[in-house]
Amino acid sequence: MKLKNLLLAAALFSLAGCSQAGQNAAQGGDNTNSGGRGTGSYTAQSAGDNRKLNATETPRLKAGAEQVHRQPQPLSLADLHQKYKSTFLFNGPASLREVALTFDDVPDNEFTPQVLDVLKAYGVRATFFVVGNRAEAHPDIVRRIAAEGHVLGNHSYDHPNLPKMSDDVFHDQVKRTGDILANITGIHTRLFRPPYGNIDEDQIKWLASQQYHVINWNVDSLDWKGLNADQVATNVLSHVNPGSIVLQHGAGGTGEDLSGTVKALPTIIERLQARGIKLVTIPELLQIPAGL
Ligand SMILES: [Zn+2]
Repeated sequence: MKLKNLLLAAALFSLAGCSQAGQNAAQGGDNTNSGGRGTGSYTAQSAGDNRKLNATETPRLKAGAEQVHRQPQPLSLADLHQKYKSTFLFNGPASLREVALTFDDVPDNEFTPQVLDVLKAYGVRATFFVVGNRAEAHPDIVRRIAAEGHVLGNHSYDHPNLPKMSDDVFHDQVKRTGDILANITGIHTRLFRPPYGNIDEDQIKWLASQQYHVINWNVDSLDWKGLNADQVATNVLSHVNPGSIVLQHGAGGTGEDLSGTVKALPTIIERLQARGIKLVTIPELLQIPAGL
């Protein structure tokens, strides 16, 4: 009985090792953001085919681990949306004439205050997805967002591409930013938006276990390309429908110009309101809790 358990444990261990190596290889081996499991095994396997093996080492398979070739392709974002309908959301109900404006990568001290000024002038409330290290740099702007009645969401600590990360580093990205927001505002947000909209199945399942909703979008302003106000307004207004979640950016890094998205905002708000659409926050649109 004891021997049987040992054999089972050994089999499980080797399976887990293979799977990790395969995953890293499939992702191109980019471990720059990863500090957790997987890094060691990949580095060891990357040492090259031609080096001389020690007597105790087992030669690697020339074309990579079995899993690289045999595992089914990961689910696409659309597949994941279908599979996790109540957790991973792209839009709200079309039955209500409501749309949610969302602003990512906040805060900065240049564009975020301008976005807030426009929203205030129109009495519109929106949802802001916060990058943790930017919140640490500008806590006063985060306080202003909350004080003016907007909703805050978690957008990771430093905006990595999440599917490439180890579990530990991914969890830290979420928890750290959640703690920063809670310290500044007293609110434990339950909204998470993955950087670039990219996320994998295990990460969605973990966020669900932490009572997070994962919020993507179905209307992209493409404002990050530095478009002018007319282009941003056209991108939004030609695709928006009742229930839409609109993506804009409310802060930029060095050299990023978001003046087009700020200038487009009055047009977007006025045209949508003229269509009888009410602008609401994500928790209002989706009827989910904003925080704890
Ligand atoms: Zn972002």
